[in-house]
Amino acid sequence: MAKKKAIKPHKSLTYDVKPKKARRIKFKLEDCGDRPGPDIEGRLEFYNHCVDIHLNGYGTNDMADGYGSPIALDYCDGKVQVLVWSDINSQEPDKINMENALETNRETTEDDIDDAWSRFIGNHIQPSRLFAIATDLIEQTDEDANHFKKCPMCLRTLRNYQGFKE
Ligand SMILES: [Zn+2]
Repeated sequence: MAKKKAIKPHKSLTYDVKPKKARRIKFKLEDCGDRPGPDIEGRLEFYNHCVDIHLNGYGTNDMADGYGSPIALDYCDGKVQVLVWSDINSQEPDKINMENALETNRETTEDDIDDAWSRFIGNHIQPSRLFAIATDLIEQTDEDANHFKKCPMCLRTLRNYQGFKE
């Protein structure tokens, strides 16, 4: 079995996969401003580990005109990065690590905790309703019955109220 070659992010974008093997989608950008410039055509090229964005007229330092992709979304060594070659006279791209955009990195605020807690409480049967069920003021619904099956806390409160009744 051939040993898998280590892939360096920015080299892989241009050298590791022959362009023919990529899947391409063409697109056209229309200027949204008040004094619009001409449309710009481009294409997305899909590789296993990256998506290259080509824009006609825009290139990179190491590729001939028409072949460079100045923007790439790259996945390597567990990192998702956006690589941007914003200067054709510079070889090094700006790298934006997307790690901080992970939903799992969202900070939990006091409000989030309060919301979660009131949702949790809201899912229980309210004490006044439990009391009404326990004292036969109202009939328990199927929804209540299902809740009692799953929630020892509400069931125990109901039993307490029923004990109080007797
Ligand atoms: Zn409950």
